[in-house]
Amino acid sequence: MIVVLNRDISIHDKEMVRIYLRDRGFSVREQSFGDDTILGATGKAVIDLRELGLLPGVGRVASTSKPYELASRETHEEDTIVTVAATPSLPGVKIGGSRISVIAGPCAVESKEQIRETAARVRESGAVMLRGGAFKPRTSPYAFQGLGMEGLEYMKLAGEENGMPIVTEVVSPELAVQMKDLTDMFQIGARNMQNFELLKKVGSLGKPVLLKRGPSATIEEWLLSAEYLLAAGTQDVVLCERGIRTFETYTRNTLDISAIPVVKGLSHLPVIVDPSHAVGIRDKVSQAALAAVAAGADGLTVEVHPRPDTALSDGPQSLYPEQFEKLMRDIEALAPVVGKELLRTPRPHHGLPAGGTGSTPALLSSSAGIAELPVAYSGESGAYAEQALMRIFGEEAERLQVSGFSAVFDAVLEGSASAGVIPVENSLAGSVHENYDLFLRYPDIAIVGELKLRIVHCLIADSRADIESIRIIRSHPQAFAQCRDFLDKHPGWILEPCNNTAAAVASIVQEGAIKVAAIAGEAAARAQGLAVLREGIETNPLNYTRFVVISRRENGGRALAPPSLGSDKPNKASLVFSVPDEPGSLFACLSIMSQRGINLSKLESRPIQGKPWEYLFYVDVSIPPGEGIFDQVVAELKTKTRDFHFLGTYRASR
Ligand code: PEP
Ligand code: MN
Repeated sequence: MIVVLNRDISIHDKEMVRIYLRDRGFSVREQSFGDDTILGATGKAVIDLRELGLLPGVGRVASTSKPYELASRETHEEDTIVTVAATPSLPGVKIGGSRISVIAGPCAVESKEQIRETAARVRESGAVMLRGGAFKPRTSPYAFQGLGMEGLEYMKLAGEENGMPIVTEVVSPELAVQMKDLTDMFQIGARNMQNFELLKKVGSLGKPVLLKRGPSATIEEWLLSAEYLLAAGTQDVVLCERGIRTFETYTRNTLDISAIPVVKGLSHLPVIVDPSHAVGIRDKVSQAALAAVAAGADGLTVEVHPRPDTALSDGPQSLYPEQFEKLMRDIEALAPVVGKELLRTPRPHHGLPAGGTGSTPALLSSSAGIAELPVAYSGESGAYAEQALMRIFGEEAERLQVSGFSAVFDAVLEGSASAGVIPVENSLAGSVHENYDLFLRYPDIAIVGELKLRIVHCLIADSRADIESIRIIRSHPQAFAQCRDFLDKHPGWILEPCNNTAAAVASIVQEGAIKVAAIAGEAAARAQGLAVLREGIETNPLNYTRFVVISRRENGGRALAPPSLGSDKPNKASLVFSVPDEPGSLFACLSIMSQRGINLSKLESRPIQGKPWEYLFYVDVSIPPGEGIFDQVVAELKTKTRDFHFLGTYRASR
C-alpha cells in the first residue's frame, strides 16, 4: 500500500500517519520523488483505506496491485529523472524524461592510457558518461579480473579530464564503501541483480545506481531488485536491459526489446539498454541500439574500445570509435521521431563558440551569468514552444510565459529573459513569417540555437467528455489544416480558431466545457489537467517545427548563447536579404556561396510588404570550416545585396 502525503504536511502529522500504520503492524518506508513524499507500507493487516485517507496531511491512499511499491508507476505517475554527479555549482548529467543519454566506454579498464584514450574518443562523439569495469565478474576464474581500485582511479581521472561522470560495477558490499567517493554511479551487474545484501548496501550509500537485469530474471524480479535499492534509501535508480538467456545461441543473449515499453508502463524509473552484452557481435550492436531507442529507451550503455581486437575482455562486441560516432549520428536523427532529444556532451572546443567562451563541457559547466534569467516563450502551459524550450534548456529551466512572439523579442531585448524560443518554420506549413519580420524589426536580437520538434497533435477534452459528446473544436488554424483527414470524418464539428494550440486547451479549462475539444500537444493536456481522447491525429506523421533560440547581441555584435547550448562551434547561419531588380543578381549571390562549397539548406523568397514585386530571400547556409572564410563570404554578399540582415550563427539540429 502507498500513502501519498500532501506537499505541505507538517512533521507532526507525518509522524501520526506513521504511528497509525505501525500500530496496525505495517512496516513503513518513506521515499521522495521530486516534490512528492510517499510512505510505502507493507504488512498483512486489512484496514479501511478510507479511514487512513482522512488523516490530516494524507493526499491519496492506494493499495498497489504490484509486489513492488516504490518502483511502481502507481506510486509515482511522472517519469523519474535521475541526475548523476550534480554539485551545487554543476547541473550533472540527467537520465530519463525526454532525453536520450548515452554512456560509453570499454568493457574493462585495462590501463591509464587505454581509458583516457577511450574517454576522449567517446566524448568527441557526444557520450555523456564514461563506463568501464575495474572489478570484472568473469565467467571463468582465469579470465582478466580487472585492475581493481587502481583501475577506478584511472577511470576517475579520465572522466574528469573529459567532463564525464563515471559508472562502474561494484561486486561486494565492502568494495561499495571503498568505491563510493571515486565513482559517480554504481553499476549492479547482471550476475548480481539478486545479490540482496549488495543491493541493500549500495542502495544505502545514496549514489545513483544502474541496475542491470539478470540474464534469467523476469521483469517482476528485476523491479523487485530495484525496490531493494529504493527501500534502502537511494532515489536514483536506472534500469538496464542487457539481454536475457533464451534458446537462441547465435547472439550472446536475446535483447528483450518488449521489456522496454513494458517496464516503462510498470515503473517510473528510467530504462536504458546495453546492446553490447545483449547481442555480443560488434556488427549487430548498432542496429539493436537503434531498435532500443525506437522502443522508448531513455539511453544506452555501449562498449567502445580504441582497438577492440586487443581488448582484454569483450573485444568482439566492442565498437570501434568510428562505429560509435556513426551510431550517435543515427540516434540523433531518430530521436525526434520518438519525441526525444539526444543529450550530448558538446564537442571539445576547436574554435570560436556561438557566443560562450571556454572549453568546459556545457553540461557540466556552471550555468552562471545569463542562464540564470528565465527563457521566454509565447503561449500557455504545455505549448509546443514550451516543450521545445524544455528540450533545449532542461525541464527545470526557469520559464517566462508571455503572450505573442513580439513579447518574446521584447523580453530578451529588455533583459527580463536571457533567451527566447520561437518557431520559425513548420515542415508542412512553411515559414512563420511573423517571426522573420520581427528579426528585421529587432536588429539587436540574433539566433543562437535551433531545435526540431516533432509535432504530434492530440484531441484533448475534459475527462468526462467522450468523442461522441464533442460539438466544437478549438485550435490554431494551422493545426486544423494539419489534422484535415481526421476532422473530415466528423463533418458536424464546428471549428473555432484560437491564437495557439495550448490557448485552446486553456479556454476549455476556464469554461469547464465538456462539449468542446482542443487540438494540441499531449503536454498541454497534461499541464492543464485535461484528458487525451485521441493521440496522433495529424494527417502526415512527418510533421516537424523548427524552433530557434534567440538572444541579445552585445554592443550590436555577436549574441551570447546561454551556456546550456554548449560551446560547439556554429555550423549554420541564417541570412535575410533582397537583391537589386536586375538580371543575374540572385545568381551572383548564390555563386559566391557555391564557389566556397557552402550548402544552402533553405532558400525562400517572400514579397516585401509595401513594395510590390520586390522580394526578400530567407537563406540558411552551412558555415565552411576554414577560419575567416565565412566572414569573407558575408562581406562579399553585402556588396551584392540590398538589405542584408545577418540573423545569427548557431549549431544545426539534425
Ligand atoms: C558490464 O557492463 O561490464 C557487464 C559485465 O555487463 P553484465 O553485468 O550485463 O553482464
Ligand atoms: Mn563487457
